[in-house]
Amino acid sequence: MSNNQNIIYGGDFEESLDYPTVGALLYDNFKDGGDKVALIDGIKEEQWTFNDLLEQSVKVAKALYDAGIRQNDVISILSENRLEYAAIAYGTLYLNAICAPTNFAYTERELEHTLNITKPKFVFISSSTKALLPKLEQFDFVKQVILLDDDNVSSDKLISFKTFLNKYSNNSFNVEAFVRQPVKLFEQVAVIFMSSGTTGLPKGVELTHGNLIACIASNLERVPLGKSLFGNVTALYITPWFHVMGFMGKLLFTTTREFTQVFLAKFIPKLYLKSIEKYKILTITVPPPVILFLSKTPLLSNYDLSSLKLIFSGAAPLTKELEEEVKKRFNDEIIVLQAYGQTEATLGVLYSDVATAKPGSVGQLVRGTYGKVVDSDGNILGANKVGELCFKGPFIMKGYIDNVEATSSTIDKDGWLHSGDLGYYDEDYQFFIVDRLKELIKYKGYQVPPAELEGLLSSHAKIRDAGVIGIPDEAAGELPFAFIVKEEGSDLTEQEIKDFVAKNASNPKWLRGGVKFIDAIPKNITGKILRREMKELYKTMKAKL
Ligand code: AMP
Repeated sequence: MSNNQNIIYGGDFEESLDYPTVGALLYDNFKDGGDKVALIDGIKEEQWTFNDLLEQSVKVAKALYDAGIRQNDVISILSENRLEYAAIAYGTLYLNAICAPTNFAYTERELEHTLNITKPKFVFISSSTKALLPKLEQFDFVKQVILLDDDNVSSDKLISFKTFLNKYSNNSFNVEAFVRQPVKLFEQVAVIFMSSGTTGLPKGVELTHGNLIACIASNLERVPLGKSLFGNVTALYITPWFHVMGFMGKLLFTTTREFTQVFLAKFIPKLYLKSIEKYKILTITVPPPVILFLSKTPLLSNYDLSSLKLIFSGAAPLTKELEEEVKKRFNDEIIVLQAYGQTEATLGVLYSDVATAKPGSVGQLVRGTYGKVVDSDGNILGANKVGELCFKGPFIMKGYIDNVEATSSTIDKDGWLHSGDLGYYDEDYQFFIVDRLKELIKYKGYQVPPAELEGLLSSHAKIRDAGVIGIPDEAAGELPFAFIVKEEGSDLTEQEIKDFVAKNASNPKWLRGGVKFIDAIPKNITGKILRREMKELYKTMKAKL
């Protein structure tokens, strides 16, 4: 490590978690948690204690083992958040198999791209994704599809969860002993998420047991702070577990025994507010659009939300104005904290905390992590200078699956992850995010990779070329917008294009920002799309209206 004074460090972990596998950490924590409530499904009104979590996850591990799942086999889960999801994820991790939580709203096209990267042997699905079943059964590598919430099914590959657990149960397989056999912590992959990173199509992000243990250690260190202020913590969230913010920031938080989590599989405004009242929720984790909802909705006055003390915002930029607005709405009796991270960094590398939070700041470096800000020539900048944020430490992914080129252009030879985000830190080492250097669009915190939409649009017979950008939107953060070059003489309409995207891409990718026909997409001489130029073009176009 260079001794450049502009490389800053989050400090050592107060207590390092010394576990041979992430499975051992989970197992021991659930065992110690006993009959305290760990997880509540707020829609179904069902709950699991830590004992239930342990019992159910061990049951799944035994079944998976009996069914032939071994180290490095991939298990995919295509489901809304539900209690069994937790058991499947943990059961998979106990076996040193790899869990690949997958977006249940994917279209066939998106699913195909993802599964060809993750190559799962078993796929757990819920009824809401049943339409994807014929597609799933086509993949040779998928040996078994397990349907979670319907018992009356079976086909060559399909089996119900209930039948699966009855059919496979190896009681002589000792999960507790198995999880104690050490793995190479920063080599053994635990979880795969999809992320497009700084450029191109979605890729498979490999996170290791070491990454997950560091993430849990970091989660645990932040809890005593909340506890000392408020006592036991009840948290509410809607974040899906197929996203790093849901899986790492919430599901893995079940290792924190002072914490009861209530999740809602979807955002239903009245139920959301009702749940805060009913479960006396102390903290919520939300992307900025939910903060906008809280600051504007007239429904607020119908509920007693006095238990709510802490709002955590992440996944996309939160403006200072919105932060102030929501605080005012709660009579300045709540604290708003931000976190910043990315899938490639196992959740968060910057967190603000109660004692030091500054409005608009995403906080300071987490423990164990180094950070620096670099200019376009790679020079390391000092305080209050805007450049690309780079991070190094135990949170940084192993890499993108089977994609050495993308991995090495994201993590340099010295181990620094180049985030693709522009920002700076101030004299107190508080970080501020200024802009996104990378091409990614974020709609309500969801990733929308422009390159993916451009590929899809260009596959349309009446489209010669396409360029996609994100345009600013108060409610969603950004909306996908497309410039289109039509094939000569074609009668293509804007609506046809929007419908085509809506049919082939999941909801966040729909062209809500609009479509504009132009003669040529701005490109450099090597054919690379000039996104900044497209953004300028959009601004000029808007100004003329
Ligand atoms: P994801 O991998 O889907 O979590 O997306 C990560 C990206 O979301 C980051 O690289 C940022 O561009 C953006 N992001 C995450 N958290 C924040 C935040 N607190 N403020 C601004 N942008 C954020």
